[in-house]
Amino acid sequence: RSGLLCWCRAGFEPELAAELSDRAAMLGHPGYAQTDRDSGYVLFHCEDGAALDEALPWRELIFARQKLRLIAELSDLDPVDRITPLLAALRESGAGPFNDLWVEHSDSDAGRPLSGLARSFGNALRPVLKREGLLDAKAKRRLHVAFIDGRHAFLASADGDDSAPWPLGIPRLRMHADAPSRSALKLDEALGVLLTPQEHELWLRPGMRAADLGAAPGGWTWVLLRQGLSVIAIDNGPLRPHLFDIGQVTHLREDGFSWHPQESLDWMVCDMVEQPIRVTERMATWLREGWCRRMIFNLKLPMKKRWLETQRCLELFRAQCGGDVDLRARQLYHDREEITVFAAHSRK
Ligand code: SAM
Repeated sequence: RSGLLCWCRAGFEPELAAELSDRAAMLGHPGYAQTDRDSGYVLFHCEDGAALDEALPWRELIFARQKLRLIAELSDLDPVDRITPLLAALRESGAGPFNDLWVEHSDSDAGRPLSGLARSFGNALRPVLKREGLLDAKAKRRLHVAFIDGRHAFLASADGDDSAPWPLGIPRLRMHADAPSRSALKLDEALGVLLTPQEHELWLRPGMRAADLGAAPGGWTWVLLRQGLSVIAIDNGPLRPHLFDIGQVTHLREDGFSWHPQESLDWMVCDMVEQPIRVTERMATWLREGWCRRMIFNLKLPMKKRWLETQRCLELFRAQCGGDVDLRARQLYHDREEITVFAAHSRK
């Protein structure tokens, strides 16, 4: 077995399969994707999975919640003893030792009922791996056991520096009681996932200024306020009154597609629900004109050809914004039929 196993949002397997196939071919590791609709994962088979794994950073994948390097497939597992064949497969592959063990399942209708099995199997397997010398805190990679059903699992591994630091690739964020909308979680996640912790600290500082296009009822504005930024919120709709308590919000009932600031802002965020191409063009104009230094925006994806549309938008953005651009896109856990994009000029 050589290749990758990636988790994704159930229903987005075709997008992830297309993304992996295109990227792998471009990187000189052609192969083929294997998946089932709504399974929540994609397998990508190629000749040198380790080389592809290294050439394709997790952070650069849009539709993969997690990226794992395949070690072995375990089929026809006997529920009475799944550990013996697992150890045999590990031995045969020569993989390990590992710094940790994560036992997972896909985030799908078929996968979620396996969470109890995953937990108890993890508890049983961990001491065995220790005894066998296969767990070592200093090792570079983590072992993943991915259950497809009670008799079928994949063994895979991940580098902690090149993978999602959350089981199943799902960051657990709690909704704050003061947040005006659930969308707040989306921007929170975007800031945590699209920026490194160092960038987050450097680029979001009290006193900075931001615009929020399509701000109502104010979830994203609230996230920016909590970072100490002042916000110009653009929307015809009303904002939740408590956002005005600290005097850092200006609400303008303007059209988000024509308004722009007179002076350059540190940030612009945009959650207007519109044709993705139209949003992309407007966002590129903001960067090109220097109306903001950094931006985060959402692109609603159409029902069909979502990978093509994603590529079309990102290419158009690059072509239109002028100069080198740092462009990062991801389908967040809190994104449904959409992706979230960070963009800035790459000169620091
Ligand atoms: N991010 C918001 C939050 O966290 O609460 C939710 C935004 S909601 C998904 C989209 C908003 O975009 C709506 O409030 C809508 O009024 C606004 N909108 C859509 N088109 C707009 C336009 N052309 N100009 C300004 N606002 C627009």
